[in-house]
Amino acid sequence: MVKAEKVHKSFGRVEVLKGIDLEVKPGEVMCVIGPSGSGKSTFLRCINHLEKIDAGRLWVNGHLVGYRQKGDKLYELRDKEVSAQRREIGMVFQRFNLFPHMTALENIIEAPVRVKRQSKAQARERAGALLEQVGLGDKARSYPAQLSGGQQQRVAIARALAMEPALMLFDEPTSALDPELVGDVLAVMKQLALDGMTMVVVTHEIGFAREVGDSLVFMDDGIVVEKGNPREVLANPQHPRTQDFLSKVL
Ligand code: ATP
Ligand code: MG
Repeated sequence: MVKAEKVHKSFGRVEVLKGIDLEVKPGEVMCVIGPSGSGKSTFLRCINHLEKIDAGRLWVNGHLVGYRQKGDKLYELRDKEVSAQRREIGMVFQRFNLFPHMTALENIIEAPVRVKRQSKAQARERAGALLEQVGLGDKARSYPAQLSGGQQQRVAIARALAMEPALMLFDEPTSALDPELVGDVLAVMKQLALDGMTMVVVTHEIGFAREVGDSLVFMDDGIVVEKGNPREVLANPQHPRTQDFLSKVL
């Protein structure tokens, strides 16, 4: 579903991704951990082409991200084509990014109606089902300011799902939440994983990684230091940098 081959990304003179090689299979839940500044968010942003990579290749759902290949040559996609690619990917950030002037339901139907040209009736019906799925069937008419952070985050997940993505990216979706609200969001993500969604989850929730993750990646300083079965990596990290990081967070 995702394939990264020798992906490099610099900001100015600072190389943030120094050759990332990773593969995420359909239905796989890959969790990514690592110290602040190691390039986790940058890698997610490259996957949906919010950042342009400097070297290497990235594929999502069989498509080369941002480019079309003809023979040996690569041609940059136009904005419209990039948008079409991005539609295959749902992204949930640390901050909920809901439209404040729209209700939960309106937030969810916005993109399906505007971008996918779904009828409002059809989009509303689906949004209602998605709100049920994330445990907020009774909050359709609430505005973001009337919802807790955890509820807002679950609306954000429902909104991403409304576009029927092939892949979901999560960038520390629970880090901004009060501790008592974290569990509800993780439960929704776990159910999504059980339903077969392909997911890349940057998270500090080691318990979630252990329980739900099919694979765990430890990134440090722009490289993948270690990847493996979450239980094995957590119980028996091979690399000293992974050992050092885990000794601080576990
Ligand atoms: P955190 O755990 O704090 O979220 P991270 O692993 O997600 O960290 P990134 O946000 O990917 O790290 O950042 C990696 C490095 O790239 C950092 O040194 C950051 O300052 C730098 N960086 C990220 N985005 C930009 C940008 N748009 N312009 C310049 N530098 C950037
Ligand atoms: Mg980050």
